[in-house]
Amino acid sequence: MSIYITPHDELHFECQGISLTCPHCQTLAHLTPAAVPKFEDLDRRRPKQIGIVFACDACGEPVFLKFFVKSYTGLRIELAPNYLEVERARENFPLTYLPQEAEVLFKEALSCYTAGCFNAFGSMSRRTAQSLFRELGERGKLELFDALQEIRTLAELDDENFAALRGVLFGSDSDPWPNQPHLDAERAGILLEVMRDLLYQTFVRKARLLQAMKFRRFVAPTQIEAAPEHGRLTDPAI
Ligand SMILES: [Zn+2]
Repeated sequence: MSIYITPHDELHFECQGISLTCPHCQTLAHLTPAAVPKFEDLDRRRPKQIGIVFACDACGEPVFLKFFVKSYTGLRIELAPNYLEVERARENFPLTYLPQEAEVLFKEALSCYTAGCFNAFGSMSRRTAQSLFRELGERGKLELFDALQEIRTLAELDDENFAALRGVLFGSDSDPWPNQPHLDAERAGILLEVMRDLLYQTFVRKARLLQAMKFRRFVAPTQIEAAPEHGRLTDPAI
């Protein structure tokens, strides 16, 4: 895909344009350029990176992206297709289902991930896991490890990634240095999905199932009474 700015200060895409998860409305939306830097200024100063403000087509809020400049040719300013999101969409999780301490820790872990601080995200994920081990006891810890093994099979995780995830979540702070594996963007993304799945399986699924069962027990007798055959005969429209 080719993106460039013309001497008329227009941003031109040789593709469908840019779509991303909007940091404001959280929907996957197309972006429309709202403020493009002036060609003349850029050509004179020739910065390596430039910023462009877009408007989200779904909510209209501004979204700021940074691009590296590939070349200045006098006729166009060619931009690299990968961009940097200055403000990223927040990662969501139904946190209220977690035990109180884990809720606080995992909330911060998600903020670290959103900010692109992947090693900080790893550290907070380990603290979340440590809090859960304390809360759930040795048996709970073993169950979480089994759940991680299950994810390994389901998601077809390779040995290297699995070892890193196990190191982050089940490693000890007293292990020889470095006691936490280094996390890049890709591995942090995998850890995020694993944490979501682990926490969902352990807390959210059970809590929602119990809530649903309670609700069914509550509404079941009313439904039987409210649906007699002759109910239709009393309808004045018939
Ligand atoms: Zn939006």
